[in-house]
Amino acid sequence: MRKHFAFPALLLAVLLLAACGKHEHEWEDATCTEPETCAVCGETRGEALGHRWKGGGCEEPEICARCGESGGEAPGHNWQPATCTEPETCARCGETRGEALGHDAPPADYWTAGVCSRCGEEIAPLLTPDFVSYGLDAQLVELGKSYGLKTLCYENEAYSTVGKASFTAHETTPGDGDKLEIRDGYVWHIVRAEIVFDDDNAYNYGMIPGVCFESYYDIRELDDSSVYDEQTGVTRFTVTWHGVAYDCRFFRESSYLGWSDHSNTFVCTFYVQLPDGYDGFVVGFRNHGVPWPEGAYTFELDNSDTLYYRLK
Ligand SMILES: [Zn+2]
Ligand SMILES: [Zn+2]
Ligand SMILES: [Zn+2]
Ligand SMILES: [Zn+2]
Repeated sequence: MRKHFAFPALLLAVLLLAACGKHEHEWEDATCTEPETCAVCGETRGEALGHRWKGGGCEEPEICARCGESGGEAPGHNWQPATCTEPETCARCGETRGEALGHDAPPADYWTAGVCSRCGEEIAPLLTPDFVSYGLDAQLVELGKSYGLKTLCYENEAYSTVGKASFTAHETTPGDGDKLEIRDGYVWHIVRAEIVFDDDNAYNYGMIPGVCFESYYDIRELDDSSVYDEQTGVTRFTVTWHGVAYDCRFFRESSYLGWSDHSNTFVCTFYVQLPDGYDGFVVGFRNHGVPWPEGAYTFELDNSDTLYYRLK
């Protein structure tokens, strides 16, 4: 009877234990999305590991290094527009597309540096005026002052004389509709000058001053564009100013006052029609004894005796 009773009791205990969860849990490893879980009872402990996202980029989604799951849509590039110096560039990954735009700057001239219209950077510095490049600005003189002008004697080229030269007056006028044609956007400059010759060489052998005109900025442009009209005595030439080419006129009137008291004065009036506001025309007296070969520019010559007056 006792033995008979014992067996069902043990069985009952085991069954009761099982019902109460009293078993050895069989934990299965946690995954990205599930914590450790008992294979027998489904109980969990701890937390899911969470995905370990790796890689990805603008064009590929992230991938979980543990489970291989894909992290949704690729975001696509986030382009910033191209600039003068940088191509279109993804702000996220730095990838580029196409090429930089390059600067958009007009060429520099003597008055305006080449500045990029897009980014404002100065790409090309101001050009240097020829008178500065060639050192001719050292020969510039001031209005109303007297300067020694050495030049050749007319009747005997073995001699030279030194006159007293001055640019005495400088005025501007729109013109007179007669000798000085009136043209829109232009003004006439009238410059008066004189050279007093009163040394013995001038008195004994005569004198011949050289008269010249130049461009302060671009000597070649003025020389190369000059056309002298023998009928009228007018020289037409071009100056380019702020990108615009101007058709300019020049003529001069000169004479000697005649010998009086061992002295003779060469008087010269320069007339030049220039764009209104232009400051780059230069008139001058030079030593006629310094040869000026056909086609040579003044900066190729010795101008140490030359006196230049700049109309500005
Ligand atoms: Zn369990
Ligand atoms: Zn994962
Ligand atoms: Zn990108
Ligand atoms: Zn630029």
